[in-house]
Amino acid sequence: MKSTLKRTWAEIDLDALTYNYHTIRKHIGPDVRFLGVVKADAYGHGSLQVATKLQELGADYLAVSSIDEALELRFNGITMPILILGHTPKEQVDRLICFNITQAVTCEAKALEYSEEAVKYGGTLKVHIKVDTGMSRLGYLCEGDYFQHGVNGIVHACNLPGLDAEGIFTHFAVADEEGADELEYTRHQFQLFTDVIRSAEEQWGHEFRIRHCANTGATAKYPETYLDMVRPGLLLYGYGDYAKQLGLRPVMSLKTVVSTIKIYPAGTHISYGGIFETTHSTRIGVVPYGYADGFLRCLSNRYALMTAEGPAPVRGKICMDMCMIDLSDAPGVDVGDEVTIFGPDNSLEHMAEMAGTIPYELTCSVSKRVPRLFI
Ligand code: PLP
Repeated sequence: MKSTLKRTWAEIDLDALTYNYHTIRKHIGPDVRFLGVVKADAYGHGSLQVATKLQELGADYLAVSSIDEALELRFNGITMPILILGHTPKEQVDRLICFNITQAVTCEAKALEYSEEAVKYGGTLKVHIKVDTGMSRLGYLCEGDYFQHGVNGIVHACNLPGLDAEGIFTHFAVADEEGADELEYTRHQFQLFTDVIRSAEEQWGHEFRIRHCANTGATAKYPETYLDMVRPGLLLYGYGDYAKQLGLRPVMSLKTVVSTIKIYPAGTHISYGGIFETTHSTRIGVVPYGYADGFLRCLSNRYALMTAEGPAPVRGKICMDMCMIDLSDAPGVDVGDEVTIFGPDNSLEHMAEMAGTIPYELTCSVSKRVPRLFI
């Protein structure tokens, strides 16, 4: 197909997102709430458009990583609950309250700061308490000897003035991986999480209204971990083995066009460093997709883009703004024709595997200068 676009673009299939949402909803059942993780610009898909669609579909909550991400949504018509998973500077607590944004509380020092600022402002900050059950990142440490200390800290936070402890959550470290050890580890994290909730609620004398921990792997595989709400990201965007098992559809396709074609004789070195040398007359196309667009340079001379006539391998080093592809086996492909970098016919998972990374990194790496087209 001829394209009128001159550079690389990402097609964001909002019908696929809708389909994935409904399918996951069916999978989790009617009594479990749905939080869509839209941090990092919705994993590169465009957080405002994804959030707007999720709001329209009736999702219960959104999660972002910072107040800037939350405010972008609030200032653009997103009225549904938003949870900030990362830290917010205490100077911004008034804005959290003013725009009804929920904040994760990860330790005693933060709880005290948030409480003080909320009282000063004269409002109430909705918070979700984060428990570190084995991810060893953010949250109240509750493992082993730290259990009672962790629970005491959580109860202290729940009782602080100016804070409304609506929720409590934890994050699984290996729920996305297969194997007996991984299953055991996730089970242990979940058991610890529910023990912490039980003790904290007993001591506090109240119940958390929303308890949540299930990320993509747990949402797909472990219904016993759903509690009140699931919290998937990657699954919603339709990538990875679990998405495949549930029949979900990839939301993003990354495409570009052939901008010029030349035929080089045998013995020609292609691109910086000349690592690729033609062995016969070779039809080389240049496409405007380079590492500044998010193409990982480690895929130089390895990955293949997909044309209407089959794969076109990348030849030589990937440049900042373009790369060269071998069109010798695709003689009908012409200047202006569309080429798929990844999409349903050239999978993101395969690209990630070749690059030694994960699908998350690839969609997040699609740079700002690549326009997102919502279809
Ligand atoms: N919850 C938290 C706290 C996260 O940090 C993330 C992603 O990094 C998610 C949920 C969603 O994870 P996934 O995309 O694997 O479902």
